[in-house]
Amino acid sequence: MSLLENIRIVLVNTSDCRNIGSAARAMKTMGLSQLILVDPIEMPNGQAQALSAGASDVLANAKVVSNLNEAVNDCGLVVGTSARSRTLPWPMLEPRECGQKLVIEAANFPVALVFGRESSGLTNEELQLCHFHVQIPANPDYSSLNLAMAVQTLSYEIRMNFLELQQLQHSDKAIQAQEDYPLVEETERLYQHFEQALKATGFITPSHPGLVMTKLRRLLNRARPDAKEVKMLRGILSSVEKAAQGKK
Ligand code: SAH
Repeated sequence: MSLLENIRIVLVNTSDCRNIGSAARAMKTMGLSQLILVDPIEMPNGQAQALSAGASDVLANAKVVSNLNEAVNDCGLVVGTSARSRTLPWPMLEPRECGQKLVIEAANFPVALVFGRESSGLTNEELQLCHFHVQIPANPDYSSLNLAMAVQTLSYEIRMNFLELQQLQHSDKAIQAQEDYPLVEETERLYQHFEQALKATGFITPSHPGLVMTKLRRLLNRARPDAKEVKMLRGILSSVEKAAQGKK
């Protein structure tokens, strides 16, 4: 399988299917083919087809799922896009770095670049499912690009890095070995385990959970534990749960 087939473009809750058609075209020009639509408000129709031009195959092969979790569960890296900075700062990537990270890590597992709604972008919950956020450093007074144009800009950065990587491989320069990162579904299980254990110890009060889980997500995202470290954390949590049970 080609490396680019391991890079998916995820469009969340798109309201205008013409943007989906244009996004498919933007993707294909840059060699990308894996499009996932999360709960589109308008399913791609003739207008979307027309705008996709010669990329109707990308459109026809698009997978439709009902939520973002489903779209990225089997990915090892998820990057969310945002036109503006959010209240809770998250690890950020420049578009160029984003292209590089996606291309390098796509050698190990599927990776995803997630785009939000035309009207309101991605929700905080969706953004917290991402390892990194990327913002195209547009005009601060007018920073919101059309959805398909944002797809084009970031797909171009993916292509530039892909071409660079190909050249490096031809010149026989070794590519840095990758960490064994866990997939989203494994990290999500870790977060659930944290929540369960912290409720058992009383650190999280179910009626007033506060921001503990959001901050933990941010901390672990920043640390990016590998698969073995996630396994160890799960073991630690099980021992904490056992100790908490013994004290009851
Ligand atoms: N009004 C929305 C902007 C939505 S634009 C908001 O304030 O969040 C639709 C989508 O295009 C965004 O969710 C994002 O995926 C992408 N996009 C638009 N401008 C962008 C930018 N400057 N950087 C990164 N992504 C951008």
